[in-house]
Amino acid sequence: MTAAKEVIVIGAGIIGASIAWHLTRAGAKVTVVAGSGAGATPNSFAWINASWGNPEVYFRLRIRSMAEWTRLANEVPGIPLQWCGGLCWDLPRPELEAYAAEHSAWGYGIERVDRAGAARIEPNLTELPDFALYVAEEGVAEPVAATQALLADAERRGARIVAGTTVTALVQANGRIAGVDTSGGRIAADEVVIAAGAGSPALAATAGIELPIEAPPGLIVHSRPYEKLLNGLVIGDRLHMRQTAEGRIIAGSDFGGADPGMDAAATARDLFAAMKAMLRGTDGLELDFHAIGYRPTPVDGFPIIGRAEGTSGVYVAVMHSGITLAPAVGLFAACEILDGERDPLLDPYGLARFTQ
Ligand SMILES: Cc1cc2nc3c(=O)[nH]c(=O)nc-3n(C[C@H](O)[C@H](O)[C@H](O)COP(=O)(O)OP(=O)(O)OC[C@H]3O[C@@H](n4cnc5c(N)ncnc54)[C@H](O)[C@@H]3O)c2cc1C
Repeated sequence: MTAAKEVIVIGAGIIGASIAWHLTRAGAKVTVVAGSGAGATPNSFAWINASWGNPEVYFRLRIRSMAEWTRLANEVPGIPLQWCGGLCWDLPRPELEAYAAEHSAWGYGIERVDRAGAARIEPNLTELPDFALYVAEEGVAEPVAATQALLADAERRGARIVAGTTVTALVQANGRIAGVDTSGGRIAADEVVIAAGAGSPALAATAGIELPIEAPPGLIVHSRPYEKLLNGLVIGDRLHMRQTAEGRIIAGSDFGGADPGMDAAATARDLFAAMKAMLRGTDGLELDFHAIGYRPTPVDGFPIIGRAEGTSGVYVAVMHSGITLAPAVGLFAACEILDGERDPLLDPYGLARFTQ
């Protein structure tokens, strides 16, 4: 019998948690090193979708990951996943029609709705679109609870979580990455996964690996918990909003959050007022807080998932849309790290594309 592969996962956001869980389930000996920074995950809008604006090849990865969410929620206790549906009218009508035609041909379950249809789906909207698209198969996984559920179950299956610890450098020995230096000392491993979101480029640089990643801020407002006003995701022309499992209504100027501008508190107040104006029955609805998340975004907008060419022992997983993609990325990364098999859906997302 060969010894279990020892893998360090740097980062305990949704991507690190999913990779750690899938690696552990597949028999690896996993150590998660979780820095104390909040990262993008707790500040996310968390819309699971394969909506407009992407080429078919990326749509296929997203659709696969949506299916993997259902599988993961069946396997891991306590994942708050809801296929609540999304009502979308954030494009001019001709573009909505083009999106509907294209994605329907790809198999996305899009329904065209008029004002009356929109009112049936979201009866508390004050202004109804003349034309919108409804996708029943879109949903939400509450990001903090989902991440905690994955980490708790990974730990129960034998993973070690080293919390509140910062990785300061990747350690190289005999021409490969052989572990990490942390604020709590050195940890050795056969393989290191960089899933540190916006913190990933600095870590990769310690091994001479360049990650072309930007981290634009996104501001989301959170109301205090309130009676149920929304049934699903509202992807409107003025803003995007949804109601969380604990009853908060959250909104951004789009799902990626608003630009905080020079005065984030003022931006939040304006956004909250706009959200309130879009809903009936909000007399008692109060702004609780706003959150600014830094979205780990590779410069071409697509994920970076895979080994860094020329450096053995390190695997990189950094992306936007990490809430949508986490289950597929966890599954595929574990398979590639442990068995050397790369899922064809990952083909476009190697780091090498930036050097070619
Ligand atoms: C406002 C906003 C809205 C979004 N909306 C959506 C959406 O609707 N749908 C969707 O799919 N995606 C959305 N995203 C994107 C999604 O949230 C991210 O892609 C995802 O959360 C990234 O997860 P991650 O685990 O890669 O990174 P993170 O969640 O950032 O986690 C990385 C972790 O690594 C840790 N870390 C960093 N450096 C180190 C170090 N040196 N040592 C140890 N630990 C370290 C950090 O502390 C952090 O906890 C949104 C993001 C934001 C901010």
